[in-house]
Amino acid sequence: MKTNLLDLNRRDMEAYFAALDEKPFRAAQVMKWIYHRGASDFEAMSDLSKVLRERLREQAEIRLPEVVLDSPSKDGTRKWMLRLDDGNSIEMVYIPEPDRATLCVSSQAGCALNCAFCSTAQQGYNRNLSTAEIIGQLVLATRLIGLPKNRGERVISNVVMMGMGEPLLNFDNVVKAMELMQDDNAFGISRRRVTVSTAGVVPGIDALREAIDVSLAVSLHAPSDALRDVLVPLNKKYPIAELLAACRRYCAGVPHRRVTFEYVMLDGVNDTPAHARALLKLLRGTPAKINLIPFNDFPGSGYRCSSAQVIDRFRNILMEGNLITVTRKTRGDDIAAACGQLVGEVQDRTRRSEKRIHLQRIA
Ligand code: SAH
Repeated sequence: MKTNLLDLNRRDMEAYFAALDEKPFRAAQVMKWIYHRGASDFEAMSDLSKVLRERLREQAEIRLPEVVLDSPSKDGTRKWMLRLDDGNSIEMVYIPEPDRATLCVSSQAGCALNCAFCSTAQQGYNRNLSTAEIIGQLVLATRLIGLPKNRGERVISNVVMMGMGEPLLNFDNVVKAMELMQDDNAFGISRRRVTVSTAGVVPGIDALREAIDVSLAVSLHAPSDALRDVLVPLNKKYPIAELLAACRRYCAGVPHRRVTFEYVMLDGVNDTPAHARALLKLLRGTPAKINLIPFNDFPGSGYRCSSAQVIDRFRNILMEGNLITVTRKTRGDDIAAACGQLVGEVQDRTRRSEKRIHLQRIA
């Protein structure tokens, strides 16, 4: 089988060329061809010898997922559905803003965590994405959006691992892909601008701290274990106290580092002043920011979004308690590209029907 060079971070790439008896600098050279100049075949790599190009053609490939659907939103957000080799499909979302452009990237085909308010959960879980399938989303998005108008401008300035899947349950491939996002020979995105969002995989948070310097977001959504057990079932395995302790370890010794806590606003479920006060108390002592996410509805969700007034009231209580709080603007909801609306198409349908039954039992 051919080696997909998109699966290799810098170290792997150097080892790959060493095994071909080539100089280590070939790694950077080929990475620049792939990531800076958008080469998809070896013929184009004119500063490699003919012999090396020929060997690469035989042994290696630069293989990307296939774009099957392009949905532009009225607000400039764009969602693409990508088909993988095995027939699974995933989604990625491009979110332009005046001062930055964010790509929301998927890490798994489907998701196993079954959060009560997330439509990806209803798809069931199929498999982890490879490094190539993760970094391939940036490669494709860069090509689809077009080159920057000004030199030195980045087409994608920020990446959030907030698409389909739980990134910390696909740890090695996600870390490798993020290394490529930050590598100057690939995307060169600054450290803080690459964010992993997790539903709270505690050992994954500790491993992340050892592996790479990225921003961390945690899907908290409730101030008590009783409520979080229902909304984010993973809480039964890693309850809030353990999760927050891991967040404090993540910040310890790193100047200015804060964890962003995501909190989805569900009407009548987690949005009262009492919830806000409990949240304030809970986060005392943890370097935190809060991101309030208006709930994005999908067919059969069983939840409603809190009203704008209720969200403001909640935010004001947090801010009066000196917690940095931002209400996330809903983007791309007309094309089902907003948080919790990414579905793709997962091969394993059995699991999906099991999940329906499971959800009915909870309800
Ligand atoms: N598995 C990771 C990545 C998903 S990120 C995680 O749980 O963090 C997407 C964010 O959107 C998470 O905070 C998730 O809880 C939130 N979300 C999921 N469904 C949503 C919905 N329907 N409306 C608003 N936010 C939602």
